[in-house]
Amino acid sequence: MARSIQVLGIDAGGTMTDTFFVDAEGNFVVGKAQSTPHDESVGVINSSKDALAQWGLTVEDVFPQLVTAVYSGTAMLNRIVQRKGLRVGLIVNRGLEDFHRMGRSIQSYLGYSYEDRLHLNTHRYDPPLVPRELTFGVTERIDMFGNIVIPLREEEAYEAARNLVEQNVEGIVISFLHSYKNPVHERRVRDIVLEVVREAGKAIPVFASSDYYPVRKESHRTNTTILEAYAAEPSRKTLVRINERFKQLGARFDLRVMASHGGTISWKAKELARTVVSGPIGGVIGARSLGERLGYRNIAATDIGGTSFDMALIVQGQFTIQHDPDMARLVLSLPLVQMDSVGSGAGSYVRIDPYTHAIKIGPDSAGYRVGVCWPESGVETVTISDCHVVLGYINPDNFLGGQVKLDPQRAREAIEEQIARPLGLSVEEAAAGVIELLDTRLRDHLRAMISGKGYHPSDFVCFSYGGAGPVHTYGYTEGLEFEDIIVPAWAAGFSAFGCAAAEFEYRYDKSLDINVAPDAGAAEKLEAVKVLQSAWSELAEKVIEEFRLNGYATESVTLFPGYRMMYRGQLNDLEINSPLSRVEKAEDWDRLTEAFEETYARVYAKAARSPELGFTITGAIMRGIVPSVKPRIPEEPLGDATPPNEAYRGQRPFYFRGKWVKADIWDMDALKAGNRIEGPAIIEAPATTLVVPPGWSTTLDAHRLFHLKRR
Ligand code: AMP
Ligand code: MG
Repeated sequence: MARSIQVLGIDAGGTMTDTFFVDAEGNFVVGKAQSTPHDESVGVINSSKDALAQWGLTVEDVFPQLVTAVYSGTAMLNRIVQRKGLRVGLIVNRGLEDFHRMGRSIQSYLGYSYEDRLHLNTHRYDPPLVPRELTFGVTERIDMFGNIVIPLREEEAYEAARNLVEQNVEGIVISFLHSYKNPVHERRVRDIVLEVVREAGKAIPVFASSDYYPVRKESHRTNTTILEAYAAEPSRKTLVRINERFKQLGARFDLRVMASHGGTISWKAKELARTVVSGPIGGVIGARSLGERLGYRNIAATDIGGTSFDMALIVQGQFTIQHDPDMARLVLSLPLVQMDSVGSGAGSYVRIDPYTHAIKIGPDSAGYRVGVCWPESGVETVTISDCHVVLGYINPDNFLGGQVKLDPQRAREAIEEQIARPLGLSVEEAAAGVIELLDTRLRDHLRAMISGKGYHPSDFVCFSYGGAGPVHTYGYTEGLEFEDIIVPAWAAGFSAFGCAAAEFEYRYDKSLDINVAPDAGAAEKLEAVKVLQSAWSELAEKVIEEFRLNGYATESVTLFPGYRMMYRGQLNDLEINSPLSRVEKAEDWDRLTEAFEETYARVYAKAARSPELGFTITGAIMRGIVPSVKPRIPEEPLGDATPPNEAYRGQRPFYFRGKWVKADIWDMDALKAGNRIEGPAIIEAPATTLVVPPGWSTTLDAHRLFHLKRR
């Protein structure tokens, strides 16, 4: 019977574009191609061709059969990092026109290295997303309880709108104080601006913050709404382009996009700024999905690509959601899967600090240009990849399956001149020192992330993926005592796999202030649940509306309400999945506080619970999911421990801990479930390399997961 291909996951990174195709039986192939930032659809199609060729199929065969496709990428984030968005106008409270520019002070310190935080002379302020001349004040004031204190001066709104329209802005954002509590003024100004835009015969999109992110903290809310105008609209064009290419190939589905909260949303979604971080999220979703199906509850998910090391913790099957994250040196109010990143990857530059003579890795990187070892790259500074090639970690003839030819001799010379000679070391010693330094740094971060939360690695399984993850798995896990260390055979396309495994899910948040004293009576509790329920109903309508846009009926949407709660007077709240789908009685309040206290005891400690303070709900959450096709995890019969002969590719010299050893080289795709390989060995795939040093071994299980162990 012919294969039926159902799901496509896409990870369009800054370096590579990965694709992940799944057929009806759950079999999959992974494709890779260089990214094409000028028109991402080209990279996506090239990568798709690369994947499908492994099944002897073409994109024309497959696209008409696909049921769904999920995109993740870094283009929107890059646009923001490089401050290359659209020209946006902003309307705020009169007198607060400089607020956006000040960014709560903290903004100009975000993303700084330790040295830069210490030394004021390196301090730098980014230009604001909206320049001061395109920011206008309008008189009005609503207080924190939602009462109108100063009525809206409509004539000022008309004037601001005319000014902005005249200055040819490409989007207009309105953000007033406390509009999440009472949006009337914001909405009135929105309508005024729309009227002026219409009269001018233009088509400028208008964004009122309360329509998009009705949450506390005006700097965060304003920034996030601005991103909608500034960066999301151009990304929508990219998605339209990809969607069109797919339609030309006969596709009948609509493209979905991985969003920062870990669910996927349609490219038609109103709030596309939610997809600003998508690539690395894919990996975390993939790890959770794999864990869910194979029974791993506590996972340390780690990803190394060309530019960074990203890690996330999954505890009891759940990841943490951050509410006021910062990103690209901006404070934002988006639900974001909590991750830690270190700016070190395989493409990171390696230099000697001229003053301390210490080796410095990153934070900048050669990205897709690999390193000095790629003659065509034009790179002159040593990168981690150069060290890999010199020490025999990476096969210079198998980079992207041989599409990119690397030259170890060039790397050797560069390391000699830039690192080894100044430090009085041999080339091997210098390169191995760099690798060891990187491993130590990653290991320290990983340890800190886990122990900082009060856990120990021995309660966690470590998943290692990304093209360069498996190269360093042994290095950054050594001595941490993880319960198990797992490298999926499809590590290089793991984020794309996560996209294919993600739910079709919308999520909306709304700030609330519900305070209930410890001795509260039924009437007070009843009032509290009414406020919460009305927020849920409002958010549920938004969720259902988004699905309706995609042709899903209300009945097909399953809703999951949640809330954010803390003890009264605390500063940090916790996100809780509601135990009840509706709340309507006073007793329901007690169910909500019980669920909160249970989580609180797990996150902190049982003894830290403080119900005597009373409870506060700070926000309502509504998630909605419709069923979608998912990849299945491979399942092969377990065979012999001895790998088949055809998987053996000979030996090569590999430098490890001060000496050259002969490592066996294996073809990853030709290995069979049950095979066990003793180090020193290197297992090669077209886009990733698993390094098994002397003293280590690995076994391939029935799900094509390598388990790495130290003897
Ligand atoms: P990613 O950004 O996740 O695609 O990872 C890219 C990195 O994977 C490269 O920078 C390499 O260090 C690493 N890698 C390991 N083996 C290979 C291979 N055979 N081809 C390409 N990249 C590889
Ligand atoms: Mg990657």
